[in-house]
Amino acid sequence: MIAAAFDALPIGVLILDRDRRIRAWNRWLAEQTGIAALDAVGHSLDDLYPDLRNPRFLMAVDQAFRQGGPQILSQALHRHLIPIPMPHLARHGIEHMRQHVHIEAIADDGETVAVVSIIDVTDSVLRTEALTDMARRLEHDVNRDPLTNLFNRRFMWEWLEHQYKQAQRYGYPIAALMVDLDHFKRINDQFGHAVGDSLLQDFAGRLADWVREADIVVRYGGEEFLVLLPRCDQALAQEVGARIVAQTRRIELLGGDRRAITCSIGIAITGPEAWLPPADLLGEADRRLYLAKCEGRDRVVATG
Ligand code: GH3
Ligand code: MG
Ligand code: MG
Repeated sequence: MIAAAFDALPIGVLILDRDRRIRAWNRWLAEQTGIAALDAVGHSLDDLYPDLRNPRFLMAVDQAFRQGGPQILSQALHRHLIPIPMPHLARHGIEHMRQHVHIEAIADDGETVAVVSIIDVTDSVLRTEALTDMARRLEHDVNRDPLTNLFNRRFMWEWLEHQYKQAQRYGYPIAALMVDLDHFKRINDQFGHAVGDSLLQDFAGRLADWVREADIVVRYGGEEFLVLLPRCDQALAQEVGARIVAQTRRIELLGGDRRAITCSIGIAITGPEAWLPPADLLGEADRRLYLAKCEGRDRVVATG
């Protein structure tokens, strides 16, 4: 009866003696490993899996014998005790069944043995990973503009709030560059919206490449981008702005059309000399962008 119950368990159970020889090996283990009880009993796990060297397992068995009390090998740290391949999960990055292992010494007929239970936790690992992945994707989506993958305004306000605190504490300036593509409407009108879209994507990618790691690029409006640069003073901001204007002139429209693409930039700075509220910083940059447009486009305006 007890032997039948042992075999009916939906988890793996093996019993080890003090020499770590296997005394019992239930049906679940036989089915999962392909090793029959007859071939397992009397051997050590090392004999069955010569490639398997698991000092943590040996230590846990030792401790279970010496101290009593359960020993745990969690999947998070150890992944598995017995390697059971799961080829159908390879595309999820899981090669072997994830196992939660519980080891406990029990006294039986004057002899002490260790009962090792192996629980398949692969499903819950997969579920947790799927949820984590989904949370990561949602966080990405909520902060990004879908066309260009740049940050959106929602993220921008959060970033500004955090950056202002840092900048005020450590006393460094923040520069805002409002960048707008010139005569973008003409591109749409002449080549169609799809070409306009891919130009926006291309430009967004370049803009992100042209700035530093610590800077962020935001899609502020349709063909309007905001670059925010912490630890950037007026001189550096003008340099970055001039470089963006110069590099933009070199962009060729997809399809080989040699029409020049240009952009205009308005720059505003906030810092220890004068802290502008974030909305005013953006307002200033936008006002100077307007000046750049009025003065003929394809240029940077940083004062006035
Ligand atoms: P200016 O030099 O004064 O900035 O001229 P402009 O034509 O670039 O500016 P205007 O504000 O007159 O027009 C902006 C154009 O940008 C009109 C709009 O259709 C286009 N646009 C905005 N968002 C998108 C988008 O997501 N995709 C495409 N293809 N076009 C867009
Ligand atoms: Mg424009
Ligand atoms: Mg615009």
